[in-house]
Amino acid sequence: MAKKLCAVCERKLGILSRKIQISDAVICMNCLNSAGISTLSNPMAYNQQSIANLINTRKIIVQKFKPTKFVGNYISIDENNKLFEIGQDIFTYENLLSFELLEDNQTVFKGGLGRAIAGGLFFGGIGAIIGGITGKRREKNICHTMRLRVSLKNTYTDVVYINFITTRTKIRSFVYKSATKNAQQCITLLETISNYTNCTGQTTSVADEIMKFKRLLDQKIITQEEFDIKKQELLKL
Ligand SMILES: [Zn+2]
Repeated sequence: MAKKLCAVCERKLGILSRKIQISDAVICMNCLNSAGISTLSNPMAYNQQSIANLINTRKIIVQKFKPTKFVGNYISIDENNKLFEIGQDIFTYENLLSFELLEDNQTVFKGGLGRAIAGGLFFGGIGAIIGGITGKRREKNICHTMRLRVSLKNTYTDVVYINFITTRTKIRSFVYKSATKNAQQCITLLETISNYTNCTGQTTSVADEIMKFKRLLDQKIITQEEFDIKKQELLKL
């Protein structure tokens, strides 16, 4: 029986080494990792070509990445190469699908859905809403978790989290305030990314956009001042 080779790197697959079955071949664990594919995902969804492409793309991305803006260790973005980093992972602007801020697992802000999918979805892109909505809290004035769920597409993972609060924290505390500030700044960066990708996509009419914010004003979700700023911004376009 001939020794099997990894279809991507062509190294020998030893008897004891882990072999990963993909749709049209068998590859080594190292290649799966280099492609950024989690072992928890379904390797059969990939073929030899797509694995090779992923490995290549990730190599180029890691080399290129030079952050121009960042918020602590939470997120950094490279506006020139249109890349962003969360955790140890680098993604392209196109990978960003949407994001939401969760406090004690309740959504307090949604963003990134943008103009491409207006309709029933709200909050096209206003960072000002943070803190404006408070869901029902089990414990008054206490927050246990605050995190940003970032949904991704066309990459090895569907979602990554940015954690700001992970333990019982008083809402009046400095820790909570600075967490909110960090979250807000992260959202601003994510908005930058999604605005960029939305601008290259389709656009809805300015009037439609203004009406959307008028509804938010009517529902007292945003203030008159915030509405006026947004309206001015939109009319300038
Ligand atoms: Zn390999």
